[in-house]
Amino acid sequence: MKITDIRFVQLVRPLDRPQRNAQGSRNERRFNLVLVETDAGLTGLGDAFGDDALMETIVLRRLRPMAIGLDPYDVAKLWHKLFASRAFWETGGSVVCGISAIEVACWDIRGQAEGVPVCELLGGRKRDRIEAYASDLHWEEPERMADLAAQYVEAGFRCVKTHIGAPGEHERDLERMRRIREAIGKDVGFMVDINTAFDRPTALRFGREIASFSPYWYEEPLSPLDWQGHAWLRRELPLKIATGENLYAAEGFEPLLACRGCDFVMPDILRCGGIEQARRICEAARAAGIVASPHNYSSGVGLAATLHLMAALPEAEWLEFDTTGTAVYEELFVEPLVVEGGFVRVPQGPGLGVRLTAKIVDQ
Ligand SMILES: [Mg+2]
Repeated sequence: MKITDIRFVQLVRPLDRPQRNAQGSRNERRFNLVLVETDAGLTGLGDAFGDDALMETIVLRRLRPMAIGLDPYDVAKLWHKLFASRAFWETGGSVVCGISAIEVACWDIRGQAEGVPVCELLGGRKRDRIEAYASDLHWEEPERMADLAAQYVEAGFRCVKTHIGAPGEHERDLERMRRIREAIGKDVGFMVDINTAFDRPTALRFGREIASFSPYWYEEPLSPLDWQGHAWLRRELPLKIATGENLYAAEGFEPLLACRGCDFVMPDILRCGGIEQARRICEAARAAGIVASPHNYSSGVGLAATLHLMAALPEAEWLEFDTTGTAVYEELFVEPLVVEGGFVRVPQGPGLGVRLTAKIVDQ
């Protein structure tokens, strides 16, 4: 089988309310879907979760000419051609996001060709549903955040995540923590995501301040490349550290794992290089005694890929599930998306179990 063409479709969804984290605010979401076509008549679907302004150029002008003619079954060769042979220039960022999209689409094609779900290609389905946490509570009025958190818990989620840490919001952030913790009760897990915004002294000080709210984990308090800083926070704070969504390729995670810079490592399939790289990262984490909890905050393509990977790797914990209602999830799923009591069902059909219809593009 050979790749004959690659197409790119950007879906845009305006937001009723801005989504804010410590790094900024946005009023719309964009989903960069990548369709990989083959001479067998099969089309695989990927999602290029990189810089929205760059992805079309990267996918169509940089990666498409290199990918046409490759065999979608041979992920190792595809990886070598698209990543390893060009590593002199690009070892991360949006180029690797584009490669990830094509790699994920190739797994979709393989599953469709063999008539099996992708998890069967990854070593077999070990579980039919994955426990998820509610993602996310973006920072805004404390009362509204607390109400939303209570709704997520009411829906069955045993863990919720918030984004705080923006400049000038310190006192209000403590108020947000207090209100949310009161709303969800003491037994629900509460993750705190700083989106890399702090320096080391601020991360230490803030970590000490929020410890009384018993966060489940403290996510990306520092630059993603400050492995030693995260390791230091692990030693200094009574908190579990999570990081990894901004690292690329299995080798890119080695320094973090080697210095034991986190308790939860968070490879994103759509950023780290695809399903095979994410699997390697999860397996390296297991060998290092670190829990893998894949990052996932894009379209239903990323959700489906993450479900299949986690179904095959039972030691991976906590599916990140977008509860904001602003993702393109159900629309892309072939089977109905089933979420019950905080668990998400792994698709049963061939491939990833997603497809892009003309109707979705029109919407
Ligand atoms: Mg995060």
